[in-house]
Amino acid sequence: MGIKVAKFGGSSLADAEQFTKVKKIIESDPERRFVIPSAPGKRTPDDQKITDLFYLCHARVQQGVSCNEVFQKISDRYLEIIKDLGLNLDLTPYLREIKEEIAHGASADYAASRGEYLNGLILAALLNYDFVDPVEIIAFHPSGVLNSELTQELVSTALQKRRTAVIPGFYGALPTGEVKTFSRGGSDITGAIIARGVGADLYENWTDVSGFLMADPRIVPNPKPIEKITYRELRELAYMGASVLHEESIFPVRQAGIPIHIKNTNAPHDPGTLIVNDTEPITNAGVITGIAGRKDFTVIAIEKTLMHQELGFGRKILSVLERNQVSFEHLPSGIDTISVVIADSELNQKLERIVAEIERECQPDCIEIHPDMALIATVGRGMAYTPGISGRLFGALGKEMINVRMIDQGSSEINIIVGVETADFERAVRAIYHAFVD
Ligand code: ASP
Repeated sequence: MGIKVAKFGGSSLADAEQFTKVKKIIESDPERRFVIPSAPGKRTPDDQKITDLFYLCHARVQQGVSCNEVFQKISDRYLEIIKDLGLNLDLTPYLREIKEEIAHGASADYAASRGEYLNGLILAALLNYDFVDPVEIIAFHPSGVLNSELTQELVSTALQKRRTAVIPGFYGALPTGEVKTFSRGGSDITGAIIARGVGADLYENWTDVSGFLMADPRIVPNPKPIEKITYRELRELAYMGASVLHEESIFPVRQAGIPIHIKNTNAPHDPGTLIVNDTEPITNAGVITGIAGRKDFTVIAIEKTLMHQELGFGRKILSVLERNQVSFEHLPSGIDTISVVIADSELNQKLERIVAEIERECQPDCIEIHPDMALIATVGRGMAYTPGISGRLFGALGKEMINVRMIDQGSSEINIIVGVETADFERAVRAIYHAFVD
């Protein structure tokens, strides 16, 4: 029998009704032996996440203000879940202790981690699974970086001897024993670490969407779901803004070759998205996997006759950027031209200075600035070695009269990036989507 590690996000555990769905999912498959809960999330769009309430509680205490009211809200949420589930679990001593710890100056990480901790206690009682506190198995270096080797060892030793366990997500401990959390959304990382530690066959990530869609539904109505995607494709799409998973959660399982299955707690029979190894054979030649894009880029286009013969020209441009602490996204070049594509968030107020320094050091014939650019990545392992893909893509943009300002194809041939004006962004995404999907 295989092992599945199942992580449930905050919306999957927001109230008793959601807990009941989770129980049904777990009990429908005996391979789901290790379960990672997040803290209760929002029940409605204007609801508050328990983690946010814990941070607020901590901040109030630090400011010397009472956190009674906020803490009451937290307690009420948990007690209501227990009551509605009809569980025989007394959480009041735990709540009392946590409140005291926060009142006596416990850290923000400790306060925030209690959301997962308490949810873990409830879920373990509901499923009749062991409860394993991550302070015992998720180890951080004093610097706050995860101690992967030690964690791997602790996880496999602690979990080998158990058939089933609930391990709260989001936190672990420093060598001093103090609680340390991952960055926000970090329960995904805990799930991936546990999956690797127990040598799982599958890491299931249960959320409130049925996996990834081929394009942003706010731009393309009813885009098709992505049933299978490789880690590398996902990385390209995530970088361009499509996100369901915490980025750091990919590495532990990718290294171990464990697939991730994104599933929907509210529609458990939907196929979801399976994230697989990069070596997965290509069975979908000519088909794209997804489209994602980002706005707010500026292009600095530099032209100089015989630039390609001038030794060190590229280095001079890049050293100007480095000196100004600006990283670039793309660097498409022609015979006598080179363009630097930079995210506006990087550029801040530095554009004028950078242009002046490039002028001084590179003596170009001209420099043009194109603000308001958007980048769109069309990604798919099925595109590699398939003739006609770019023809279709550019044909579709041409038909829509969209001017392509920049083209960049990754060396892996699994993506084509085009730069268009921000005003054309949505139209361009739709045109590309419809060129490949009917
Ligand atoms: N509860 C934490 C947060 O809100 C971690 C998580 O949900 O993954 O960020």
